[in-house]
Amino acid sequence: MEMQTKDYDVAIIGGGAAGLSAAQALGRSRRSVVVIDAGEPRNAPAAAMHNFLSRDGMNPLELLKEGRGELVKYGVEVIKTRALDSRHSDAGFTITLGNGTEVSARRLILATGLKDQLPDIAGLAENWGNDVLHCPYCHGWEVKDLRLGVVDSAMAMHQSQMFTQWSNNVTLFKDPNKVLAAEELEQLEALGVEVVEAVVTAVLGEAGSVQGVELSDGTQREIDALVIMPNFDVDVSCVKSLGLVTQEHVSGLGRHVPVDDGGQTEVPGLWLAGNVANPMAQVIMAAADGLGMGLRVNADLMQEEFARKVAELRMKKAAV
Ligand SMILES: Cc1cc2nc3c(=O)[nH]c(=O)nc-3n(C[C@H](O)[C@H](O)[C@H](O)COP(=O)(O)OP(=O)(O)OC[C@H]3O[C@@H](n4cnc5c(N)ncnc54)[C@H](O)[C@@H]3O)c2cc1C
Repeated sequence: MEMQTKDYDVAIIGGGAAGLSAAQALGRSRRSVVVIDAGEPRNAPAAAMHNFLSRDGMNPLELLKEGRGELVKYGVEVIKTRALDSRHSDAGFTITLGNGTEVSARRLILATGLKDQLPDIAGLAENWGNDVLHCPYCHGWEVKDLRLGVVDSAMAMHQSQMFTQWSNNVTLFKDPNKVLAAEELEQLEALGVEVVEAVVTAVLGEAGSVQGVELSDGTQREIDALVIMPNFDVDVSCVKSLGLVTQEHVSGLGRHVPVDDGGQTEVPGLWLAGNVANPMAQVIMAAADGLGMGLRVNADLMQEEFARKVAELRMKKAAV
């Protein structure tokens, strides 16, 4: 039996802050819009979201649930499934979905976020997003004045310095195989950061309540929260047939998909919003990016429609 393909003006893969904001702008512009969402936003492990004015402390999943609710009145459809691949079609793009169906759309917005790759330390993943954290702006206030440990990484020096803004009890667990410059050691000393020459091998305590760390020298240290730096990666397999390329981000912390200033990719009609393009964007920034992309895609569709209408008018006039 031939597969039924439903047509839309715009398909959006990813229903996080970026994707839903793009959908809202497009739905309000009277576009037919479908959002395809696997429902695994990056900050899902965190109990609360911060730095989003008027939504401070809200559960991240609750924000998206409310967002999806707001889209209903604009006729935006949200399909909870994974997009598997996308190809060019007469309509623009045809997207194959994990639920066995397909959708097609004139334009495609990719808002699939990024994946945090955590260091392989026992007990760490269970506490990720709460007592194991990476971003002082997301969680710094919540761990203020607590005993903080920093796991060694390319960003450990920077994180050790930064977190002294939130606590005067910061310990850097430095890989003994790495050498810090005398100037760096002096900076850490000046900021009151203790340097322990050992690798963190396990996080101790129940999930949701870190009590300490186990170290490579066999000792344990009591801490209340652990600072790490994940590597980020983007999964663009849902557009693999379109030939989108990923590239190392300038921060050296992982991969992203480069876009031009307007969020357009090298693939005509394919736009990007949120963390998939800008790994540094926090929720309100990803939402703003999605909104901007919604407006640009609407403008792009309007240009196409204006050109078609002018051509039709000319043909009509030529025929009389
Ligand atoms: C632990 C943690 C805590 C954080 N806390 C904060 C905070 O307090 N405040 C703040 O501002 N920022 C915070 N952030 C950053 C925040 O997570 C990002 O800014 C935000 O999630 C980016 O939104 P996005 O829409 O680009 O991506 P996401 O929110 O990750 O959404 C992407 C969506 O696309 C879906 N998707 C991916 N691939 C497919 C596919 N093939 N098919 C269908 N759907 C797909 C995913 O399932 C997901 O639902 C935190 C990040 C982490 C890791």
